[in-house]
Amino acid sequence: MERAALDTRILILGTGFSGLGMAIRLKQAGIDDFVILEQAGDVGGTWRDNHYPGAACDVPAHLYSFSFAPNPDWSRKFAPQREILDYLRRCADRFGLRRHLRLRARVVSARFDAAGDAWEVTTEGGATLRASIVVSGCGGLSRPALPDIPGRARFAGAAFHSARWDHDYPLAGKAVAVIGTGASAIQFVPAIAPQVARLSLFQRTPAWVLPRRDHEISAATRRRYARAPLTRWLRRQAIYWRNEGVAIPMTLAPRILELAARLGVAHLRRQIADPRLRAALTPDYTMGCKRVLLSDDYYPALARDNVTLVTAGIERIDETGVITRDGAHHPVDAILYGTGFQAAEDVAPFPIFGRDGQELADVWRAGAEAYYGTAVAGFPNLFLIVGPNTGLGHSSMVLMIESQIAFILRCLERMDRARLTRLEVREDAQRRFNAGIHRRLSRTVWASGCASWYQTSTGKNTTLWPGFTWEFRLRTRRPRFSDFEARPA
Ligand code: NAP
Repeated sequence: MERAALDTRILILGTGFSGLGMAIRLKQAGIDDFVILEQAGDVGGTWRDNHYPGAACDVPAHLYSFSFAPNPDWSRKFAPQREILDYLRRCADRFGLRRHLRLRARVVSARFDAAGDAWEVTTEGGATLRASIVVSGCGGLSRPALPDIPGRARFAGAAFHSARWDHDYPLAGKAVAVIGTGASAIQFVPAIAPQVARLSLFQRTPAWVLPRRDHEISAATRRRYARAPLTRWLRRQAIYWRNEGVAIPMTLAPRILELAARLGVAHLRRQIADPRLRAALTPDYTMGCKRVLLSDDYYPALARDNVTLVTAGIERIDETGVITRDGAHHPVDAILYGTGFQAAEDVAPFPIFGRDGQELADVWRAGAEAYYGTAVAGFPNLFLIVGPNTGLGHSSMVLMIESQIAFILRCLERMDRARLTRLEVREDAQRRFNAGIHRRLSRTVWASGCASWYQTSTGKNTTLWPGFTWEFRLRTRRPRFSDFEARPA
């Protein structure tokens, strides 16, 4: 049978660490026949979109970067957003990715043509591209979640989400409400608190916060890292193994976290003198169940005279402000949402139709599942990066992304060598894999009884990997092809 011509062999979706990393590795493997689609006007993914004041990474920069594109020049232990975005832009230039890029190409659907073993990917405006392989690097945290609070749309002032920050809105002298106290809010609250007239922080659940201990990396150290790459590599190794150590209590022995919680309590006691504020900020769940936050300026910001912590619970929003369950009305000029992302639920970023026309969102209705977060039964020739159960509570996502990229490259090599037009993970293999990880997840700290974005509303953890990153790397290094169905050309 004559197959319709392909526009490209491989289509990569997204230009964050996942999409760019995949493209770089393809280039290095001598594969040039790929196109990268990006919905925005520039590369960068989450580091392009999250430019709120104070945005930075809470994983040390020397680990939160590609192993194959080291940067001796990180200015601080924890790189600010702008520096990470510049790093990604430089990667796109240095590895010659720009000519593969199609910017402002938002994907609206992807459909597998089972007769032709090809994906048809349609972008806004109606253009359709045909490719043998699709690699989705659309990210786990790319779609902001706005809370379902009655009256939210009625608010007449300014309102925006942390991932859609409006820098044109002058915050100086304004009364603002901040909803949410997660990783994003604890970074922007200290950054804006000195400028605004009043800040009311609406907290639903207090977070565990540990000291951050950020510091500059001196010019001398940076020169040394550039001159003697081994010293930079050793630094990366030290950070890596320290972080891996944290996976032990999180995944194997949650009781150790009770000891770590004492550090959190001591940090709170050192920074907050008022016993009532201290009590309101003390978490009542096991440390680590929700993401542990690192900050040295969050608590001091809450102790400011112009900042009020509101714990009464939000009942509704009206034209002029926020009304809490105790009946109090909090009039504000602006509402800033630090309410996170659609992660565990609603995980397919656009409609994806598989081998038999089934839609991924339907297949995942009861909770997303994949094989090593990368392949999905019923969806041949599709590879996800940062798919289900690849997230981490303890280390750098770039490590997981690189492991997934290596896994995908092995699959592509296999398809080449065996002249396959189709590669699809078997349903029984995917089921076995998921039974194994969910058994392990049930013994981790994330199953210790808190509500978090790691889980669906029914309590299924669809986001986190239950072990060490080296284990994921070893297990994905050589795909077990007996777990796949293949179709020869
Ligand atoms: P998040 O961790 O999901 O936090 C959302 C916050 O909004 C929580 O405090 C949540 O309260 C609150 N919230 C949600 N709906 C609410 C409602 N209806 N009423 C009141 N409060 C509500 O989101 P995030 O802070 O944007 O962080 C998301 C993830 O992004 C992080 O976990 C992390 O993986 C990543 N991130 C990383 C960095 C970094 O430095 N690397 C920085 C920022 C973000 P509850 O706790 O009660 O649900």
